[in-house]
Amino acid sequence: MRKLATIRVIDELHPIEGADAIECAVVGGWKVVVKKGEYAVGDLAVYLEIDSWVPTELAPFLSKGKDPREFEGIKGERLRTVKLRGQLSQGLFLPFDVLRGAVVILAESADVSEFLGIVKWEKPMNAQLAGMAKGNFPSLIPKTDQERMQNLKKEIAGAVESGLQFEITEKLEGSSMTAYLIDGVFGVCSRNVDLKETEGNTFWQIAREYDIEDKMRIAGLNNFAIQGELIRPGIQGNIYKLSKPMFMVFDMYNIVTGSFLTPHDRRALTKVLDVPHAPVLMVDKDLGMGSIDEILSWAEGKSVMGDIVGPEREGIVFKEVNGGMSFKAISNKYLLGEK
Ligand code: AMP
Ligand code: MN
Repeated sequence: MRKLATIRVIDELHPIEGADAIECAVVGGWKVVVKKGEYAVGDLAVYLEIDSWVPTELAPFLSKGKDPREFEGIKGERLRTVKLRGQLSQGLFLPFDVLRGAVVILAESADVSEFLGIVKWEKPMNAQLAGMAKGNFPSLIPKTDQERMQNLKKEIAGAVESGLQFEITEKLEGSSMTAYLIDGVFGVCSRNVDLKETEGNTFWQIAREYDIEDKMRIAGLNNFAIQGELIRPGIQGNIYKLSKPMFMVFDMYNIVTGSFLTPHDRRALTKVLDVPHAPVLMVDKDLGMGSIDEILSWAEGKSVMGDIVGPEREGIVFKEVNGGMSFKAISNKYLLGEK
């Protein structure tokens, strides 16, 4: 589970050119604009990551005098990436006293999302895509998720130190899809749900179109999962200019060994199965000096999915070539342009 609200120590504070009332606080790999003088370096505060859905009682000012929005029955607002006086700002700091009365372990990076009533904002899925549930997501398979690099400053420094190499793929903006064969039973899941095979369900349609069940059986891929992104024309103004839905693989998981295939083996097997793979930008890239800002700058660029001039890509995903750590770097340019 992603920690949306955590107890953090303010690492650094920097002035913002031309601004007297605000300054820039740094925590891990994140930069957040705060009121000047509200925090000092070393203070404990509560940090809320972008895409937190923040109940209006916690931060009424987020609604800017308008009525708050609503998500899953909670009145509040979504934390977005913004630029203030030219300074990128991601997330929100709340003073430590919002935790008064909390029964939590008051340790650095402790997760206080539940106490504060913060949930992750998600793009609403339409009914046809969501489909009907056959059951919960299979517990034997990891749900697809990638940690944001801003939360992995230490781990990234460690990876640079050890000279680790990474595959870089384009991060596609669609819906997570998992196809599995468990003890001979084939199934198709969205990010969180095992789906019933119904006529109009796009996840199942695409699995049938690519013939994934037969291909997995013929290849003997029992107790195995293929994970990828379902992208389609009907959403987000069809940024990839698709004429029909597509499934693009980004992970393969062996349930028997409890491990992901290495990027190399996954790419090779995807070719054998003749299923599209998410765009591969690099197969063995180091992390340079490992600076968060530098790697974030790599995330920006045009998608290689488009026809001639692609749209701004959402970001890139790093996977260690031996099947070790993985993480995502979301393009700030993309986030700032998001509607
Ligand atoms: P987010 O979309 O921010 O929740 O980031 C995690 C999700 O990115 C995963 O659950 C996948 O569905 C999706 N994703 C898109 N492209 C890729 C990729 N190339 N590698 C891994 N995950 C990806
Ligand atoms: Mn996504």
